[in-house]
Amino acid sequence: MHACDLCHQLVGEPSSVPPHEHLAASGIAARSNRCKVDSRWRCTGCGAWMYQSTALGEPPNMWRMGARPDDWPDNRG
Ligand SMILES: [Zn+2]
Repeated sequence: MHACDLCHQLVGEPSSVPPHEHLAASGIAARSNRCKVDSRWRCTGCGAWMYQSTALGEPPNMWRMGARPDDWPDNRG
């Protein structure tokens, strides 16, 4: 995957940093106890998946780049 500069710059930043302009909200991951783990974003520019972790995420309170979620249907892009 060749992520764009905007995505690269966001990786490792605190979750308090807002998503960049090309990120589209793509759902929220939660544990079975409904505690929110992270917010999912997909870059409309490069297609990278970005995860905005909460304090329960891994790593906590930080932006990371990751693979497409397992529960994301192919036909949605
Ligand atoms: Zn990007």
